[in-house]
Amino acid sequence: MRDGQGDWAGAWQRATGFCLFAALLLSPLLAAAVAQRPAPSRIPEGEALHVPASRIPVRIRLAVPTAADSGASLWVQRAPVDEVWIEQGAWRSASQGFFKPEAEGPAFPSGFVFDLPADANKTGIDLLVRSRAPVTLRPQVRTDTVVAQARERWAVMSGATYAGLLMLAIVALSLFAAVRDRVYLSLLAFGASALAWLAALSGHAYAWPWASWIALWGVQGIWALAMLHCAAAAWLAQHYAALADTSPKLARLGDSLRFATLGLAAVALVRLDALVPILDWAVLIAGALTLAYGVAATFIAVRHRIWNSPSVFTIVLVLAGACLLRAWAPMVLSGFWVRSGMQLALLACVLLVTIGMIGRIAHVRDERDRERLARGDSERRLEREAARVDLVQQLQRRLRELPPGDLEWAAFRSVFERLLPLLQLESAALVAYGFHGFDLLLAEPISSKPHYTDLLSSRLGMMKGLARTQAPVQLQLGNGDALHLSHAVVPLPIRAPGWGVLLLRRADGSSFSDEELALVTDFGRLAVQHADEAAAALTLRKSAELDALTGTFNRRTIDLWLSRCFSEAHREDGLLSVLFVDIDHFKSINDTHGHAAGDACLRQISEVLRRQLQPSDLLGRYGGEEFVIVLPGRNGDDARQLGERIRAAVELVRLEYEDKPIRLTVSVGVATRLARESDPAAAVSRADQALYAAKRSGRNRVNVAPAVFT
Ligand code: GH3
Ligand code: MG
Ligand code: MG
Repeated sequence: MRDGQGDWAGAWQRATGFCLFAALLLSPLLAAAVAQRPAPSRIPEGEALHVPASRIPVRIRLAVPTAADSGASLWVQRAPVDEVWIEQGAWRSASQGFFKPEAEGPAFPSGFVFDLPADANKTGIDLLVRSRAPVTLRPQVRTDTVVAQARERWAVMSGATYAGLLMLAIVALSLFAAVRDRVYLSLLAFGASALAWLAALSGHAYAWPWASWIALWGVQGIWALAMLHCAAAAWLAQHYAALADTSPKLARLGDSLRFATLGLAAVALVRLDALVPILDWAVLIAGALTLAYGVAATFIAVRHRIWNSPSVFTIVLVLAGACLLRAWAPMVLSGFWVRSGMQLALLACVLLVTIGMIGRIAHVRDERDRERLARGDSERRLEREAARVDLVQQLQRRLRELPPGDLEWAAFRSVFERLLPLLQLESAALVAYGFHGFDLLLAEPISSKPHYTDLLSSRLGMMKGLARTQAPVQLQLGNGDALHLSHAVVPLPIRAPGWGVLLLRRADGSSFSDEELALVTDFGRLAVQHADEAAAALTLRKSAELDALTGTFNRRTIDLWLSRCFSEAHREDGLLSVLFVDIDHFKSINDTHGHAAGDACLRQISEVLRRQLQPSDLLGRYGGEEFVIVLPGRNGDDARQLGERIRAAVELVRLEYEDKPIRLTVSVGVATRLARESDPAAAVSRADQALYAAKRSGRNRVNVAPAVFT
């Protein structure tokens, strides 16, 4: 759909451009009504002469004022004639040509100058002109000093104009190279085409060896350059007033104008004499249209408050006036300002627009800065997102293997490992009270711990208050030297009555952005959440390992431990003993006092057993009222002694259930790992048999299994 519209706009633009081009070519037909006046036969000096296009020289008789003395010359302003000379009777001056300047002439020729013969004021002289295009001439009789003065002024003015235009074109080129914006390309085109056109129009280009080939096209070369300049002017006007945004209609009109003028330039390069009268008018009208377009565009620029636009608008108006004067004034006026006003106005126009365009650089730079910032922003966001993903993975992996009490600080160490480089922190600390029952102060790097200990000693109450608010803040905290350091205090979602905060600090004490505080809050929340989950998983795992009634290992776990201890002892050729402890006549307790009493007894007996054990010993409920004790690193004798202590302790202990005293005894079977035994089955069986042997021999006793039970 959009493309379709684009095609239509393009077609319209080309059609308008073509119509405009055709109208420009046909306009001379309308102008044909204004017939050329034939040159009068004798004209006083100083009057404007219209010389029609002709291959045969046109002769004009001039009246020379009587006041003209012998030092006077005839001065004819330069116009694109092929040949011009003067005659008096049989005498004839050397001929001069616009497109073939004299080799020894000035660098910036200003006019055709002819020395007048001595008695010119009496007889008058004939001016002979041969020109392919109609021209307007104003021959004037001047003293040599006046001619020299005019030449000098003209040379200075022209030199300054060319130098100025050249310099501005170079500035435009460098601006384009620096910013790569088409605007500066249009400015370059405008400056360079103005330079070329002016140089051709004033006839200076033909004197320069590297530009003299333009003379090949004669007056049509000037017109082609003029049209090229018009196209560049329309292009620049579009960019300068940002017409694409401010006035799309005018922008499209500019495109059409550009097509039309470029078309005219191409036609002008076709060297057909028949085209000359048509082009003469068409170029004039195209120039006028371009000027009007420039005025309209700069007016839009003023309305949209484009930088420097009022002065550009003013100078474009001046330029329009100067061009009109230049085009029609030779018939009315003459003088230095009429001849050079257009050049100067054009130069001023390029200068002002260049200044305006330099102003745009700041805008372009701002835009680029914004772009770079946005890019930096998204890079930072990506970096933080990656750190977050990494943190979550590490928390999931690391916390699973840690015991309670370690996983809390391990979680926050992972957080600090990422936050410190990410936010360019000098140090960070975790302050937590009652976090899974622990009080923590974790500082990273460790050398900053005294600073935070110091801080806490005076601000603990405040920290607690801040933790309750659940909103991060930045404060000037610290003692002594560090008093003015800005700290971020980020509360942690620790379950009440516990509380905790993260404290962060940068080396330069600079503050933290909202985004950074949000990041810390997020990381803190992740650490607490994963620590909570790991702690919960740990509790769950514990409950799966333990016997619910007695809190000792259950059968499955103690079997695992038995296997693990046997293979370890086998590998290290270490000692290992196993005790089986069975309560005597337990069934009768259940029968007499009830099942609940039996349960209470089981709990109390397990406590008695636990008290007799060392930390490395393992106690499990093997089933019913039977316990197993694994004793890594102990021989049979040690085990027997322990069994004896257990038996005695149970015998002595006074159990109670609902204030009713209960007496119990236990029988103990002892077995020791034999050399080369790497799994517990045989030893368990020996201990079991030793236990039953103890039962058989009267109960309440310890029986050690012989090395090989028979
Ligand atoms: P012995 O001296 O030969 O070991 O006699 P005993 O009665 O202790 O032996 P027996 O193996 O015949 O009986 C074990 C009893 O332990 C059976 C059961 O009622 C009781 N018992 C097993 N597990 C539990 C339990 O979890 N709670 C309670 N209250 N009693 C249990
Ligand atoms: Mg029993
Ligand atoms: Mg039993």
